[in-house]
Amino acid sequence: MKWILSLLGFSPKSQSNLCSCGSKRITKSADVIVWGTVVTLTNSPQCKNCTETFLNKWATRCDKCGNPICTGEAVATGKHPGTYIHLNLCCTPVPDQILGHWGEGKLVPYEYRK
Ligand SMILES: [Zn+2]
Ligand SMILES: [Zn+2]
Repeated sequence: MKWILSLLGFSPKSQSNLCSCGSKRITKSADVIVWGTVVTLTNSPQCKNCTETFLNKWATRCDKCGNPICTGEAVATGKHPGTYIHLNLCCTPVPDQILGHWGEGKLVPYEYRK
């Protein structure tokens, strides 16, 4: 199964084309494997190897489809307390519980302004 990662919250902070390890960072479509699932990225602050390590470390499991929720993806609450699901048409047909996006192993809530 191919999973397209939305890059909200996971975009490069600097203009450099290099990862912190010295390799070229991902600047065009690249596939990385997260928990056995192919995730396609178009952009990353890191190179392919570092991105793969990073996402495998910090992903969480979607309570609906069982695929990984990667850093940068929008999430909604799952049925059970403390669980999260992808915010997309497959997992969240009715997007009424937008929570935020997945960060480094934890939720980064959206800030609502009054
Ligand atoms: Zn790297
Ligand atoms: Zn899902």
